[in-house]
Amino acid sequence: MTSADSARSARFLIVGPQGSGKGTQGVLVAAAFDVPQIATGDIFRANVKGGTELGKQVQSIIEAGDLVPDELTSALVADRLAQADAAEGFLLDGYPRNRGQVADLDAFLEPRGEALDAVIELDVPRDESIARLRQRAVEQGRTDDTEEVIANRLAIYERETAPILDVYRARGIVVRIDGVGSLDEVTTRIFESLAARGLAPVHPGAVA
Ligand code: ADP
Repeated sequence: MTSADSARSARFLIVGPQGSGKGTQGVLVAAAFDVPQIATGDIFRANVKGGTELGKQVQSIIEAGDLVPDELTSALVADRLAQADAAEGFLLDGYPRNRGQVADLDAFLEPRGEALDAVIELDVPRDESIARLRQRAVEQGRTDDTEEVIANRLAIYERETAPILDVYRARGIVVRIDGVGSLDEVTTRIFESLAARGLAPVHPGAVA
């Protein structure tokens, strides 16, 4: 890897509870840094929709709001990260979401001499995320946006996903963002906080 390559390194993870807007913000960050957005939930849903073997394996798990087994998820992400377009950077959305997956991601990145540059934490209170999910259920009709499944997904987030932030905090890479506000306000906060860490987008024009 040349120094020009490493200077461009932009390896991000965006973490936040369901309804925090991480999918929307993740797309904007990925575009501005010119890296692929890799969202495990989107990949799984596309496979369910396409009726693939993987889709059949994960459909009932997703509909219950449970986590797909780490082995399957981590293998899928490792495959995706090994593709050429992710060589200089990526934005992960929805992975890792427990400590086992953090270890799996480390095991993938370390031998390549790579590491996450920043973990963007979108901080949204529980009541606010539930309200946004109810709204999304009306708008998008996702099969996992029923009251019961939402409660399960949020419980799993609090029990398994929130603790991974402690691991990344100890590494000094967590950028905590207040996720309450308009979409543009939150986007601005994210880019300002990343810039403060020396992480400047290659396409600043893409920033709202
Ligand atoms: P949300 O964050 O709103 O729950 P996602 O689109 O990120 O939605 O994920 C949808 C579903 O896909 C999850 O409820 C889970 O069943 C599955 N999934 C996504 N990412 C992972 C992961 N890293 N590990 C295990 N299961 C996952």
